[in-house]
Amino acid sequence: MASMQNTPSMPAPIAQPNPTVQNEPTTQTNNPPSNALDSELQLVSSLAKLQKLEARIHQLRTLLPNRLLAPLAPVVEPRKEGRSLPSSPQELYQQLVQTARAGIEEVKQFQTLWHSPEMKAIWEHVEGDIKESGGQLLQPTGMWEIDYDSLLGEMIKEEKAREEEKIKDEENQELEKLRSSGQGWRGVVEGFNQRNIPGVRVVPSKNEALLAVALVKAGMVFQVQADGLKEEKDFPDWRVSSKISPGRPVTKLETSIVDCLNSRQRKWDLAYLLEMISSYSEIKTSPCKKCNKMTNAAAQLPSIRLSKSVLSPEGNRTFTFEPLHADCL
Ligand SMILES: [Zn+2]
Repeated sequence: MASMQNTPSMPAPIAQPNPTVQNEPTTQTNNPPSNALDSELQLVSSLAKLQKLEARIHQLRTLLPNRLLAPLAPVVEPRKEGRSLPSSPQELYQQLVQTARAGIEEVKQFQTLWHSPEMKAIWEHVEGDIKESGGQLLQPTGMWEIDYDSLLGEMIKEEKAREEEKIKDEENQELEKLRSSGQGWRGVVEGFNQRNIPGVRVVPSKNEALLAVALVKAGMVFQVQADGLKEEKDFPDWRVSSKISPGRPVTKLETSIVDCLNSRQRKWDLAYLLEMISSYSEIKTSPCKKCNKMTNAAAQLPSIRLSKSVLSPEGNRTFTFEPLHADCL
């Protein structure tokens, strides 16, 4: 947040009738669970929240009297530069009303943040600590020595990089396993076809790294082909396009499905791709996981698929694909 300071001091009063208060999101993807503040990341995240809360307190201190009474300033000192008198008592009244409303809103937002579930967990943690130490409080220096918000940002970035590295390693191991099985991508297609999934047909080309996937119920056919020059590889990356009968235009729905399919992870993993394509088989009857509706305001079906993975005790990863609208993501 722009108003975050390393060492909070009283900010200069701002003589603005309309102070702008940023609406911070009340939830973050990496929120600590409500009563567990036991990892470093959670503690830093909590400190960042406290730091932001304190910055808001400093901001609120400028509300009374400075900002709240700012519309009166030109009346009290009309000669001061840059100040123009309100044209009528009504205008002055309107300015005061507006400033007061904005001020009340600012206080309300602060209270909401203070009592929010994420802050509640932090307050409980602090109270627990004070109780444990027999009422003894740590004596801080009175200044924030670290900008916890940016520290949190760095820690999240590192965590993400570690996570990505782990996924890459895992995928490499899977690929190695596939290679040593000696079945090649055709073996993957065969394995898929043996499952006889109703309404899904996969037909590989005899001489190219190319296959057609038909979804009977959805009335769609996709063409899956090894991406670019990599087709000589044993497990190439795969690219999807719509396969339509000549003269028929590609529908919007088909375009958005193909876009979603091509932006998937694990581009080398044909089994994953076939599973993902199959998940569109029931697109006309599978509502969005988020809003539970078939169509959104733009009358679109849930064309996005969010992949979720489960690791079995034997170390096998299986994927499921949840239908979502693009605007419900
Ligand atoms: Zn939805």
